[in-house]
Amino acid sequence: MCLSEPQAGSSLADIKTRAEPQPDGSYRVFGNKMWISAGEHSLSENIVHLVLAKIPGSPAGVKGISLFIVPRHLLDEQGNCNEHNDVVLAGLNHKMGYRGTTNTLLNFGEGKYKPNGQAGAVAWLVGEPHKGLSYMFHMMNEARIGVGLGAAALGYTGYLHALDYARERKQGRLPGNKDPHSAPVALIEHTDIKRMLLAQKAYAEGGLALNLYCARLIDEQRNALDEELDRISSLLDILTPIAKSWPSQWCLEANNLAIQVHGGYGYTRDYNVEQFYRDNRLNPIHEGTHGIQALDLLGRKVVINDGANFEQLMATILQTSNAASGDVNLSEYASMLDATCLTMEECWFSH
Ligand SMILES: Cc1cc2nc3c(=O)[nH]c(=O)nc-3n(C[C@H](O)[C@H](O)[C@H](O)COP(=O)(O)OP(=O)(O)OC[C@H]3O[C@@H](n4cnc5c(N)ncnc54)[C@H](O)[C@@H]3O)c2cc1C
Repeated sequence: MCLSEPQAGSSLADIKTRAEPQPDGSYRVFGNKMWISAGEHSLSENIVHLVLAKIPGSPAGVKGISLFIVPRHLLDEQGNCNEHNDVVLAGLNHKMGYRGTTNTLLNFGEGKYKPNGQAGAVAWLVGEPHKGLSYMFHMMNEARIGVGLGAAALGYTGYLHALDYARERKQGRLPGNKDPHSAPVALIEHTDIKRMLLAQKAYAEGGLALNLYCARLIDEQRNALDEELDRISSLLDILTPIAKSWPSQWCLEANNLAIQVHGGYGYTRDYNVEQFYRDNRLNPIHEGTHGIQALDLLGRKVVINDGANFEQLMATILQTSNAASGDVNLSEYASMLDATCLTMEECWFSH
């Protein structure tokens, strides 16, 4: 997905890449795209870039953005890779983590290759002009839930590594035991280590549950009866920025705690937890930063349709807490959840 540009990351309204119409109905794309994951590699014969660009004369801002297909190699009549399109790797970004994927700066249309003797990356419009961002969002909404799930997976695996380590590593004695001849206890015996393990477990399982719930909503949305569709779509709409952001923040914190449980060893490459942290650090940044998700949640998802999404979410949470209130082990948590929902609803109504 080629959205970002060096000068336009969060603000896609300001992209400068342009697509010039050609007499045969195709386009030629000119511009630079930054941060493109897997934008260049030799793992596959061809790479098909989906590029956001503006057709000259389009409306300003996001309403003027269209979506184009730009293959790295153009195909011959038999469908084989043939001429190199005018898209080149201008540089690799050297990332803190996520090093299994290249991350690239791509130049389109700088004339290094000249398909049919002419500079400009040969491109084809996807769908209708000026609707590019809405098409891209189709993929991005799915990708956002994927990011949340990835963050939860990293949080979970970090927790399991920390748990193993805390069971194996012996260090010190419990408070009150002053006998230096007694055997040291496993880290997991220490209250502070338990605190850090339990926090990781709560973040990772919470993130995983939230994302599995969203994945179920996607399945239900695809198979819903008409009368159920609005309720499911409302929930998915409002939960998507949360499903992306919450695990990105808290499962990263889980990885931070996993390093802490490992002490100095956690800060070295001898153990995996430092890599989990580095990899997870991306998740609050890409697919819309944390701040952009917050703007989406409060500026759009909560307020659209006069708060219908928000009310649907509150109703769903209250339904769950009602069901839980009859269980002696859960009733205390259910009433805490009720109280939080009521406060949020009061905020909404006073707003
Ligand atoms: C490893 C990696 C892989 C990526 N893969 C891709 C990819 O495949 N395709 C692609 O198109 N892009 C990709 N990106 C780009 C990514 O989506 C952008 O980095 C992201 O959108 C932020 O843009 P930026 O880096 O220019 O930061 P900026 O937009 O400059 O933001 C900097 C800070 O300012 C805040 N900010 C910006 N605007 C506002 C605002 N209006 N209100 C409040 N705060 C604001 C942001 O939240 C952030 O904290 C990738 C990035 C990375 C690091």
